[in-house]
Amino acid sequence: MSSRTVRVLDTTLRDGEQTPGVALNPKEKLQIAEAIDALGVDVMEAGFPITSKGEQEAVRMIAGAGLRAEVCALARAEKEDMDRVIACNTKSIHVFLASSDIHLQNKLHITRQEMVRKTKEAIRYARDAGLTVEFSPEDATRTDPEFFRQVVEAVCEAGAARLDIPDTVGTATPEKMAMMVRLAKSAGDITVSVHCHNDYGLAVANSVAGVLAGADQAHVTVNGIGERAGNTSLEEFIVTCHKLYGMRTNVNLQMLYETSRLVSRITGVVIQPNKAIVGENAFGHESGIHTHGILQNPATYEPFEPSTVGRIRWMQAGKHAGRHGITAQLRGMGLNPKEEHLRLIVDRVKEMGDQGVTVTDGDLYRIASTVMGGKADESNMVRLEDLEVVTGLKRTPSAFVRLVVDGRITDASEAGAGPVDSALNAIQRILGETKQIWLKEYRLEALTGGSDAVADVSVKVEDSSGTTASGRGMKRDIVVASVEAIITGVNALLVKRQAEAAQLKSA
Ligand code: MN
Repeated sequence: MSSRTVRVLDTTLRDGEQTPGVALNPKEKLQIAEAIDALGVDVMEAGFPITSKGEQEAVRMIAGAGLRAEVCALARAEKEDMDRVIACNTKSIHVFLASSDIHLQNKLHITRQEMVRKTKEAIRYARDAGLTVEFSPEDATRTDPEFFRQVVEAVCEAGAARLDIPDTVGTATPEKMAMMVRLAKSAGDITVSVHCHNDYGLAVANSVAGVLAGADQAHVTVNGIGERAGNTSLEEFIVTCHKLYGMRTNVNLQMLYETSRLVSRITGVVIQPNKAIVGENAFGHESGIHTHGILQNPATYEPFEPSTVGRIRWMQAGKHAGRHGITAQLRGMGLNPKEEHLRLIVDRVKEMGDQGVTVTDGDLYRIASTVMGGKADESNMVRLEDLEVVTGLKRTPSAFVRLVVDGRITDASEAGAGPVDSALNAIQRILGETKQIWLKEYRLEALTGGSDAVADVSVKVEDSSGTTASGRGMKRDIVVASVEAIITGVNALLVKRQAEAAQLKSA
């Protein structure tokens, strides 16, 4: 275990933005930059100014935003590229030029000697402009080690502040990465970075191996977004360094989850549910054995407290669920069923699960209150009073929704991409204002074939404290099914809130 501090260079706004299909406007880039700065990264690679006018403008905006992090921008080892970076007023520049024979012969059509000459020239040019230089011999891990050593010596001689080792196509192993770092460190006295890609799913392991072998800094992206299979995931790398290796970074772990969600929302890159640290299921439990263990001591089936990374543990009823987990979930909704009722509730939950149906919070609440004879206080629940949608080829789809919230009738009309979107927007408008509840997830499935198929809509809603609840609607009318799903989810969330408040009062 070492307690040294590892530097973090975040490249979400450069390599991350190179994710196929992702393009951010300057305003979005600035918003992400502020969030990443608040996390506490040491360096932020804000973009690649030569690529477009908007990109250059974004980098200049970020460089001038008064962030704590050192703002950096990317350039090829070309004057033209470097001039664009210089015009952005960043503190540092990340210059790259490939060093592997594959790239030299097939892409650049230059010799190794020319590569070394261009490298030195570029570093001197950027340094003379007053920039801190980080240099990447692109495709370093596929570069002949003897030539790599020569490149590192040239980089040091030309006066770069940092040398980065890019595993450009993600083919390094942890052993290889460690070897490259040791080679670089032995060739010159320079700060060493590692930049890993996830083509074999080894990006985090390779970055950690690099750091353990003596690298001072790692390049990462939020949610691991990036070219092809992506880059080293910021959250996985940081938590691994802190929790498994006892190293430190300047990153605030508690902000990892909200930053991950912000980046996912703005880039449109969804996070796989089983992704480590930030995936929806990373702290979710269904199996009876696991929930039973968790309820006695969370350490039985959790690697660390979810709150460490700003998250909340959740449990899911379903065919694998057991009595203990379901009891805990019901208690969270303010329901304390008698033994005989609990048995019936568990049976029905498992029946639903066996039919391949996900049991939402709304379903569990409905099952329990039916079995228990509707004993819960439902006065604060939201009720749908009326719904009308209009749609067509030559008009903007819109919806009118009337809800009863806290005993009062509230209306809203909203437009949207289609009738479902419009109806959900209208509901969203009412509940966002009155209850601070927002739609987090929407899923639609057709249960049967044909145009009269039953639409099975399941949703997840969330409030400002991060508490979530799931709901479902099943109807032949897809709009009504969607509206029903969100309202059952909201009501499940409201009973959870009510139970929390009651618990606080009695405590
Ligand atoms: Mn890269």
